[in-house]
Amino acid sequence: MSEQNSVTRALFDEVMVPNYNPADIVPVRGEGSRVWDSEGREFVDFAGGIAVNSLGHCHPAMVATLNAQGSQLWHLSNVFTNEPALKLAKTLVDSTFAERVYFANSGAEANEAALKLVRRYALEHYGEGKEQIIAFKQAFHGRTFFTVTVGGQPAYSDGFGPKPGAIDHLPFNDIEAFEAAISDKTCAVMMEPMQGEGGIIPADQAFIERVRALCDKHNALLIFDEVQTGAGRTGKLYAYEHFGVVPDLLTSAKGLGGGFPVAAMLTSAKVAASLKVGTHGSTYGGNPLACAVAQTVIDVINTPEVLANVEARSAQFRAGLEAINAKYAVFNEVRGMGLLLGAELSEAYQGRARDVLIASAEAGLMCLVAGASVVRFAPSLVISEADVAEGLARFERAVAQIVQG
Ligand SMILES: *Cc1c(COP(=O)(O)O)cnc(C)c1O
Repeated sequence: MSEQNSVTRALFDEVMVPNYNPADIVPVRGEGSRVWDSEGREFVDFAGGIAVNSLGHCHPAMVATLNAQGSQLWHLSNVFTNEPALKLAKTLVDSTFAERVYFANSGAEANEAALKLVRRYALEHYGEGKEQIIAFKQAFHGRTFFTVTVGGQPAYSDGFGPKPGAIDHLPFNDIEAFEAAISDKTCAVMMEPMQGEGGIIPADQAFIERVRALCDKHNALLIFDEVQTGAGRTGKLYAYEHFGVVPDLLTSAKGLGGGFPVAAMLTSAKVAASLKVGTHGSTYGGNPLACAVAQTVIDVINTPEVLANVEARSAQFRAGLEAINAKYAVFNEVRGMGLLLGAELSEAYQGRARDVLIASAEAGLMCLVAGASVVRFAPSLVISEADVAEGLARFERAVAQIVQG
């Protein structure tokens, strides 16, 4: 048995903690929006590593940066600052509402920092008792104990002992419920401008505006979790720009590093001031290697050409999915923003998103699910028209197979 063949899906069950159930194929190589597995099968990638591979696989600019920074300086710790981190922070400040940046390594860590910061800010400015965090059902904010408890799926936070307290979950996009829940005791509101894991559900314009207004009225901070919607995914650098509603804190991860682990929490100078020396930190956060790669990702993405491609490919996707639906009547709705799209299965196919995903893989296409009944697409932001067309053709074969049983 060759060394190569000794690595199969079966090995996963022998050596890995069983918290995941990965697919049977083992991908070994990627280029652009194509991926090849250990047996040489080729796939069109509409999954993008769950909205992470914003520039596809092995983008030449990212490879060049990784190689250059990789032979210069990888890691220092935050005992020293470094050029790539400061440069990236300056870029993020210059291109968003933010005045200050904190770097972390994952979405959960950026959210954890945001949640600790809002609690500390409220304590400093208003004293004890202003602790309530309002969040939303079906929301997803990561898997640390604080972030998973703020997330809106109790199944993910139950069974680990006593949870962080003073967290309330409301139905998303429900203005009345929100008006009833917020008060001067509210410390912060955390929301995704468009829920990702929860099923690709954009905030209603009126809802998000009301949330902002009532946060202002009650001196509560507004946190936008843009871990999934950020870094150009929706056709703007950050999704809040679509709504014209500015948060007090914003978190970014996933697509920010395009596959290299890096995250950022953005905020104002006033809010940032509560994160004084020693109050929070991370050994790896803001390391030069991660920040150099993220700089390249943002430099490529935050251009009119790439953001226009997101909109053009989005329109192509929607038209293609609608055409498939006209033929097979499998979706209730195709929704989303930019290249974060969801196709909600119709009544006859409720609960079968995973079956569609498996049929797609068999047809040579990688896609995602968002809950049991939504098929999710989060391809590279620089995917070509031809790759979208080829991927949709393969998706149609998968849908036909599901419909025909
Ligand atoms: C993926 C995700 C997270 C968690 O990010 P990790 O890098 O897995 O910790 C948090 N919030 C949202 C909206 C996400 O989609």
